[in-house]
Amino acid sequence: MSPPVCNEPILRFAPSPNGRLHLGHALSALTNADIASAMQGRLLLRMEDIDILRCTPEFERSIHEDLYWLGIGWQKPVRRQSEHFAFYRAALDDLIARDLAYPAFLTRGEVKAGVAAAEASGDIWPRDPDGAPLYPTEERHLDPSTRRQRIAAADRYAWRLNMEKALAEIRSAQAGALCWDETGDGEKGLIVADPAAWGDVVLWRSDAPSSYHLSVTLDDAAQGITHVVRGLDLFHATSVHRLLQVLLGLPAPAYHHHRLLLGPDGRKLSKSNGDTALSTLREGGASSADIRRLVGL
Ligand code: GLU
Repeated sequence: MSPPVCNEPILRFAPSPNGRLHLGHALSALTNADIASAMQGRLLLRMEDIDILRCTPEFERSIHEDLYWLGIGWQKPVRRQSEHFAFYRAALDDLIARDLAYPAFLTRGEVKAGVAAAEASGDIWPRDPDGAPLYPTEERHLDPSTRRQRIAAADRYAWRLNMEKALAEIRSAQAGALCWDETGDGEKGLIVADPAAWGDVVLWRSDAPSSYHLSVTLDDAAQGITHVVRGLDLFHATSVHRLLQVLLGLPAPAYHHHRLLLGPDGRKLSKSNGDTALSTLREGGASSADIRRLVGL
């Protein structure tokens, strides 16, 4: 890959090779390609395969086939997240050293039970923009020796961001609100980020190392991405990405969150909606022009 020319737009399509691409991915990939071409920029491809148990080389190959068929070209090399765990770990270690990340030991079941008990006694438990209950905050304050003992005794634990401390650090690092530039199909203009809405997000798991938030933020910077084009389902996650960018001293790309394609159930298409898989449509005789029409481009 040649080095970026100053101000050259660089975009990326970043699928997870844990299933076959469907029409929603086609909309995302084609929107990326169209914007890159209109801006005379470059399009990169990134495999978001941190979930090493569910991502496979076969799915990765099928992504390449689908994109070629759609007429989408990208600049090589393809970045594979599974090849960069040490890079993500170094950023996590930096956050741990600054006491911005803490080991979190509660299992999903324990969190669920705690939330149910609190709600049964009339409390309103805060939920994130995706509707999941926020992680309890008690473990933020464990003393170092208790943390060490619990790490030694635990089967598994995650590293979570201490949102309260992170926000305090942001307030002292920059004047004014944390914002991003948005040009997508929902709210547009300067958007004020609200990372607190997500609570203490996971940065590192014991089963799938690294987390979506940490690796996507680091990779967008490492690949010099200037414009992030992705679905509106990730609009609110951008608040966390902007926070991590400031904490880790990374540049802020511009964002374009495009409309989503919905299935007959009114929900966003998923890899389990097999009938919208691009390979199935191709085998059924559809052309790439048909796909453009089907996704409304
Ligand atoms: N890997 C994510 C997905 O397949 C996209 C992440 C992003 O574009 O930021 O939905």
